Amino acid sequence: MNGHITGKTRVVGLFGHPVQHSCSPAIHNAAFKELGLNFIYVPFDVHPDDLAAAVHGIKAMGIVGVNVTIPHKNHAGEYLDWVSDDARMIGSVNTIHNDDGVLKGYSTDGQGFIKALESAGKSPAGSNAVVMGAGGAARATVYALVKAGASVTIINRTHERAVDLAESLNKISGIEPVRSVKLDENAKDAIVCADLLVNCTSVGMYPNIDASPVPKEWLHPGLFVFDQVYNPAETTLLREAKSAGAQGVNGLRMLIFQGALSFEIWTGIAPPIDVMESVV
Ligand code: NAP
Repeated sequence: MNGHITGKTRVVGLFGHPVQHSCSPAIHNAAFKELGLNFIYVPFDVHPDDLAAAVHGIKAMGIVGVNVTIPHKNHAGEYLDWVSDDARMIGSVNTIHNDDGVLKGYSTDGQGFIKALESAGKSPAGSNAVVMGAGGAARATVYALVKAGASVTIINRTHERAVDLAESLNKISGIEPVRSVKLDENAKDAIVCADLLVNCTSVGMYPNIDASPVPKEWLHPGLFVFDQVYNPAETTLLREAKSAGAQGVNGLRMLIFQGALSFEIWTGIAPPIDVMESVV
C-alpha cells in the first residue's frame, strides 16, 4: 500500500481457506508501496460454501481482482464471465480480474514456473523433463512445459493419477508429448535420461524436511532440478542434487513470478521482482 488508505484506494486480495499464513499480502503491498500505487492487498478467508457469494461480491464492491488459492482454484471459474485458455486447459483459476465489470479468470501458475526456470538459466524448449507428482501444481507445470516445447514423463506415487494426467494433456495437445511411468526401475531410467527434474509433490516440505521424492543415486550432473517446495529453502532433494553435481533451484521465485503476473493483470504495470522477493 502507498501510505494511508483514502477514498481512492483500490482493493485487491486473496480468496482462500485458510489464508492466515499467506505471504501474498506482504509481497504485493511491498510492490504497491515501491511503485507509489494507491492499492491495498487484503486476505479474505472464504469458506467453500460462500465462494459464489464472494466472487459476486468482487463486482458488487468494485474490488479490482483477487488471487484464488486452496481450496477454490478448481471451482472459481464457474462463477466468472470469461476464463483464459490456459486456465480452462488446466481447470484452475488463480487470478480473477474485474475488468470494468467483466470478471475474467486466469492461471499464472504455469507461466510463473516457466519464468522462474528461465531466470535460473534453464530453457524448457527441447528439454527431456521428468515431473514428480500429479496434483494441481503438476498439471499446471506439465501443461506449461509442453507448451514451451518440452517432452515430459510424469511419475507419481499413485500411478493411476499420472496416467490420467498424461492422457488428458495429450488429448489437449494432440501430439502426445507426455507419458507416465511407474515409480520403479522405469522411473530411474527416465530420470537418468532426463535433463530437467521438477518436484511437484509436497515431499521434503517442512516439517518432513529429511524426505526426498527421488533416491539420490538417480541424480546426475546433467540434470537441472527444480523443486517447487520452498520451505526449507534447501530441500533434501536440492542438497542431494548438488552433491551429485546437478544444478538446482527452489520454488520461491515461482511463487514470486506467479504473483508478479497477477499484479500485472490487475494494474497493467510490471512489479519490482527484487522488492517482492526481498519481503519473503
Ligand atoms: P496436490 O494437488 O495436493 O498434489 C500433491 C502431490 O504430492 C500428489 O501428486 C501426491 O501424490 C504427492 N504426494 C503427497 N505426499 C506424498 C508422499 N508422502 N509421497 C509421495 N508423493 C506424495 O498439491 P499441489 O497443489 O499440486 O502442490 C504440490 C506441492 O507443490 C506443494 O508442496 C506446494 O507447496 C508446491 N507448490 C509450490 C508452488 C510455488 O509457487 N512454488 C506452487 C504450487 C504448489 P498422490 O497422488 O499419490 O497423493
